[in-house]
Amino acid sequence: MSERDFPVVPSGGDPGDLVGELVDLGAGEVVDFRRGTLDAYADADPREQFGAVADAVKAGFEPAWRESRRLADLLDVHPGEVLAYSGYSDFVDLLDATVSGGCTTVGTRASPDSPPVYAQTWDYLKFYEDHSAVVRRAPADGHDHVALTTLLGHAYMGVNAAGVCVLINNLQGERALVGLPFSVVVHELLHRAGSAAEAVDILEGASVMSTHNYLVGDAESAYNVEAGADGSAVTEIADGQVPWVHTNHALEETGPAVLAYSGSSRPRYERARALLAADPSAVPAVFDDHDAPLCRHGSAPEDVATVGVVWVTYDPLRLHTIRGTPCANGGRAMGVR
Ligand SMILES: [Zn+2]
Repeated sequence: MSERDFPVVPSGGDPGDLVGELVDLGAGEVVDFRRGTLDAYADADPREQFGAVADAVKAGFEPAWRESRRLADLLDVHPGEVLAYSGYSDFVDLLDATVSGGCTTVGTRASPDSPPVYAQTWDYLKFYEDHSAVVRRAPADGHDHVALTTLLGHAYMGVNAAGVCVLINNLQGERALVGLPFSVVVHELLHRAGSAAEAVDILEGASVMSTHNYLVGDAESAYNVEAGADGSAVTEIADGQVPWVHTNHALEETGPAVLAYSGSSRPRYERARALLAADPSAVPAVFDDHDAPLCRHGSAPEDVATVGVVWVTYDPLRLHTIRGTPCANGGRAMGVR
C-alpha cells in the first residue's frame, strides 16, 4: 500500500479493531471539524437533534447503531452526534442550510458483453482526503463488505461479497425529516442485501433523512434510486441506457423534490456522457477531465475537491480506490473478503 492510498481498517483483519482504529486515525478530529462548522447555525441549536437522529438509527439499524455507540463511547460524545456528522449533508438539510460539493457517478460496460463497472468521484471537503478510510467488515449476521467512508464509520460507497455495489450522489431535498443518515443506509444495504433488487427493496423501505441518488448494482442489473424524506423513484437501468451517468440534478420526474444544487452538475453530466460514449471502457480515465470539471482540486480543508475515486469491477470482484485527485494518483484494488 502506498502512502497515497486510504488506510484500510481493520488493518489486521479483526473486526473488533475497526472502531478503535478509526479513533486512532483521527475520528475525534472529524467531530471537532464538524463542531466548528455547526457554529454557523446560531439561530437553532443543532445539538437538540442528536437524540432524535440516534433514535431513528437505534430503531432498526442494529449494525450501524452498535458501531456508532462504540465510537461515541471512545470519543466521549453522544452517539447521535457521531451519526449526524457521519451523514453530514443530510443533517445540514435538516437544519435548512445549503451545502456544496457534488460527485459524478457512472455505470458502464467496456463492451456490451463485458461485466459492468460502477464508478464515482467523491467530491467533498478536502479535509476528508486525510480523514477517511476503507472499512472492511466481516459480520457474523451479514455479508462481508468493503467501503470507503469517513473516519466516523458506516459507509459512503462500497460493495459486498454478494456483488452488491452502492454508490451515492447528493441531491439536496426540498424536505428533510429526522431519519436515517445516508451513510447508515449504505452500511445497512451492504450488510443485508444479497442482490441489487434486494438493496432497492431495503432502500425503499428506509426512512431516510434527506435526499440522495443511489446507483445500486450487481453483476447482472443496476438501478437508479432517487430517495428522500418525501418518497423515492426507482428505475432499472436498461442496456440501452449504459453508459449511465448521474450528477446532482434529478433524472426521475416522480422522485422527491430537489433544489438546484451544484452549478457544475449539468456540465459534468454532459461531459461524462460524451467521454464514455466515445470510450465506454474509460474508467477511471474519464475522471481526469478538468473542463466540466470531473476532477476538482482544492487546497484548504474547507475547499470542495475530489477527495477520492471508487470503482467496482466484477470477474474478479474488486473495489478500486484512488485517494485524492484522479489525474495525479494511481489506484489500488482489493477483494471483498
Ligand atoms: Zn485533476
